[in-house]
Amino acid sequence: MSDAVLSLTHLHKRFGALQATNDVSLALEPGEIHALIGPNGAGKSTLIGQIAGHIRPDQGSIELGGETITNLSVAQRARLGLGRSFQVSSLAEPLSVMRNVMMSVQALQGHSFRFFKPVARDEALLAPALEALEHMQLGHRAWTPVSELSHGERRQVEVACALALKPRALLLDEPMAGLGPEGSARLTELLEALKRDVPILLIEHDMEAVFRLADRISVLVSGSIIAQGDSHAIRQDPLVREAYLGDCDA
Ligand code: ADP
Ligand code: MG
Repeated sequence: MSDAVLSLTHLHKRFGALQATNDVSLALEPGEIHALIGPNGAGKSTLIGQIAGHIRPDQGSIELGGETITNLSVAQRARLGLGRSFQVSSLAEPLSVMRNVMMSVQALQGHSFRFFKPVARDEALLAPALEALEHMQLGHRAWTPVSELSHGERRQVEVACALALKPRALLLDEPMAGLGPEGSARLTELLEALKRDVPILLIEHDMEAVFRLADRISVLVSGSIIAQGDSHAIRQDPLVREAYLGDCDA
């Protein structure tokens, strides 16, 4: 195949009578943002679940950096370099930004949380955490409690948590959800810069962000990919307009 960082090949997943994933193939190439869009119930979360490892496909394979990960656990995939942020925030509110990022590094390294030992002393955790925060332009907020951050800053911390693990590929599930125009514009800018270092598979409803950010878009409808192409091609595609974009202002 190509030099794809992440590739899905002929994935199928059925829930009872419902074909939630129907022969889905897609590739995430170095340096790109590949957006996955589609109406509610299209199967986006089911696909993300199969990539992250929560859901096993019935058929097909998933490769990360050339290695087959189809049957690996969530933790094994994370260790091989699959980074992700969650739709629902998993940050610990009273703790500092830095401590949250350090804890995510620690969790991946397989340590139990050592709450009795000040985690901030651990240089091995501090360095990658600070680097990730600076990457998301949050270095100045490192010692601020998460509870004092804006909604947009929290999203940046969540991405930093994933980045601190030095992923080869990043899965972002609706990172713009709930952000105002300002927060959304800021995150868009940061992701645009980030993709050079880590390619991103982006699930997003904010079509303005998708059309601005995505190098490639895959449109999922009823479990099947009905179109793949760049923003221009997807905007023009009559099938996509009918199935998905028709009712939004694209
Ligand atoms: P999306 O994220 O695009 O909104 P989902 O992947 O959540 O779509 O859902 C795709 C379809 O699969 C929906 O019809 C949903 O009801 C169904 N579905 C999702 N998870 C399960 C499950 N665990 N068991 C049965 N049906 C499911
Ligand atoms: Mg979903």
